[in-house]
Amino acid sequence: MTQPTLGVLALQGAFREHRQRLETLGATVKEVRLPADLHGLSGLIIPGGESTTMARLMTDYALLQPVRDFHTRGGAIWGTCAGAILLARDIQGAPPQFGVQDSLSLMDIQVRRNAFGRQVDSFTTPLKVTGLEQPFPAVFIRAPVIESVGEGVEVLAQHNGQVVLARQGRLMASSFHPELTPDPRLHELFLDLVNETVLETA
Ligand code: GLN
Repeated sequence: MTQPTLGVLALQGAFREHRQRLETLGATVKEVRLPADLHGLSGLIIPGGESTTMARLMTDYALLQPVRDFHTRGGAIWGTCAGAILLARDIQGAPPQFGVQDSLSLMDIQVRRNAFGRQVDSFTTPLKVTGLEQPFPAVFIRAPVIESVGEGVEVLAQHNGQVVLARQGRLMASSFHPELTPDPRLHELFLDLVNETVLETA
């Protein structure tokens, strides 16, 4: 099988760390800033950062619909932290100017922004993840919580009874930052998901 090419949305936030991790795992990685950058990709990571800023930049760069279309064509997408917020169909705790029309709204989850408190309340915790034998060291930074999930969504990890990792088909959302720890297992999981994906060839 040919090695897939992965994209990392590189408008703002922790995209370099994702890029490095994927490259360490042998993937070819492209930074995505414009719709044309999506061509030839099988998967896309939307990093953590500030979801309001990222949503505004995605609007300015006319990226929202092309990313939705990429998913429709069969592309896999993983949103981490702010990226998970951008994937969610329902965003709670957003300022009024940050409406649903400004996000990707692809995944059947409801998220609440900054649910674990402010920057000073950032923490790392060993997380039990479905499919991983040992706990994953999860870094939470002003993280959202996934408050509810739709029928087609599989919950992969919870912290104190709250959902922090979920999957729906070829979409994955994590509240935490797997790129900020040396542990590669969640990026490997995403690569598996990408490899399951069959892109429509136009
Ligand atoms: N609190 C940020 C937001 O709401 C997300 C933080 C992060 O990605 N680390 O967009």
